[in-house]
Amino acid sequence: MAARVLVVEDEPDIRDLVVLHLEREGFQVRTARNGAEALRHVKTAPPDLVVLDLMLPELGGLEVCRRLRRDPSTASLPVIMLTAKGDEADRLVGLELGADDYITKPFSPKELVARVKAVLRRARPPEGPAVFSVGGLSVDFGKRQVAVGGAPAVLTPKEFDLLRALIEARGRVLSREVLLDGVWGYARAGEIESRTVDVHVRRLRQKLGVEGRRIVTAKSVGYRFEEAE
Ligand code: CA
Repeated sequence: MAARVLVVEDEPDIRDLVVLHLEREGFQVRTARNGAEALRHVKTAPPDLVVLDLMLPELGGLEVCRRLRRDPSTASLPVIMLTAKGDEADRLVGLELGADDYITKPFSPKELVARVKAVLRRARPPEGPAVFSVGGLSVDFGKRQVAVGGAPAVLTPKEFDLLRALIEARGRVLSREVLLDGVWGYARAGEIESRTVDVHVRRLRQKLGVEGRRIVTAKSVGYRFEEAE
């Protein structure tokens, strides 16, 4: 079934542009022009993701985000904020409130679509069993908790997503491009972005201690997860 996206934006030009590109990608799109309307839509026709402009009349985007997070039925609803250039303070507050990602205006619709797909992929229910264990490694996908030899390993969200992507690939090699797209939502992989993957893999290996060896480098291609001892 097509994922449902609620686009909340009072500026018609931007709203139409976002809707056009999302619909072209097969998403089911609804729109709201202000915060109150957005909250109503979320109740009556729950979406899978919200694209939320922060600059809205009356009830602002940050307040909408705060209310979504406060209500248990929408606390985990993925939110991508649209922010104006120079609005670093609002963006930080939004991320602290639990928004999943942000896009700065002016943005490329392609990038927005890529971010929407990436956030939806990360939000989807885990495939297979909710807890994966091999050797001394145990990963609870639902709780997003990792333990090595019974002791918790504290991963950043990106490190966790990276580990999950590798585990779910079941031994297949994932290229840096695939990881960038799936974990970071970057459609294009330049040298700097590729290095980001390597840096995260290195940190992830360190945090996994003896189990870090399961993340195997496929020379000049990417990485894979090794289940065998
Ligand atoms: Ca606006």
